[in-house]
Amino acid sequence: MKLQILGSGAGLPSKNRHTQCIILDLVDEINQYYCVDASEGMQHQMLHTNIKPSKIKNLFITHLHGDHIYGLPGFLSSRDHQGGKDIPLMIYGPKGLKNWLDVTLETSRSHISYPLEIIEVAPNQTFNVDNMTIEVISMQHNIECYGYIFTERTEKGELLVSKLRDIGITPGPIYKEIKESNTFLHDGKVYDTNDFLGPEKIGRKVIIHGDTRVITDNDYKEKLDGADIIVHESTYLDGEIEKAHQYHHSELSEVLSNFKSIDFGRLLITHISNRYESDDLILIQERYRDECIFASDFMEITIPRKS
Ligand SMILES: [Zn+2]
Ligand SMILES: [Zn+2]
Repeated sequence: MKLQILGSGAGLPSKNRHTQCIILDLVDEINQYYCVDASEGMQHQMLHTNIKPSKIKNLFITHLHGDHIYGLPGFLSSRDHQGGKDIPLMIYGPKGLKNWLDVTLETSRSHISYPLEIIEVAPNQTFNVDNMTIEVISMQHNIECYGYIFTERTEKGELLVSKLRDIGITPGPIYKEIKESNTFLHDGKVYDTNDFLGPEKIGRKVIIHGDTRVITDNDYKEKLDGADIIVHESTYLDGEIEKAHQYHHSELSEVLSNFKSIDFGRLLITHISNRYESDDLILIQERYRDECIFASDFMEITIPRKS
């Protein structure tokens, strides 16, 4: 599992940053990519990577500001011709997404041959997709806006083959049956399967925010607890807290102090304004390098299992 950043910029693109588009690479787990937000140029960015559009079967939109969705019609149209012809795609996002897409695709006479389903989500909704539980969390922005909590299912540990051999069970289809059951019978004795399994593979938790002011509610903070990685915006990096608040965005020092009480792994800062393109950014990165990672386009971050 890893994150791959296709766009790390805020509202306006710059020479080095496209606007927000984040890939959750699940190729090793389920041979798919999830995509969060669909910035203008996302399909061009993808051409510089190994990502196949047909392997994106679930796409999540945080909100309907243009910097997060203007790449969607182009991506959807091209996917048809990039191996995605019959491969279904689900898009999750706020109310209004379906109407916008219907009008855009119809007006531009875009023909999409694969099954396309648009699901409009609501705050606190939880649903399962593949091996993930996904929870929708409300952001504090000037338009309906969400974050998504992706929690991978915890899997049983590996079968301990040598232990099974010790009681006289040799490899074969029986191993699968044993792994799938809680107990098994052998030579007239009942065994507990857990005694023959290695440590559980604990599911990973990845949280990707949409645009937001810093959220201080305890309910929200509890949801973040235990995350392996949190992706949070910081349109403002250098002390302009009032301005960030005024424009419904976040400022870095405020994000960092808000997360101090939360127990989590790494923090990835993204949605970085195009004002920070100079040496200033290097200095800011240096100052905070022990506290967070700063996203850049094409950055990849591996998310290892805890066990
Ligand atoms: Zn934005
Ligand atoms: Zn926005």
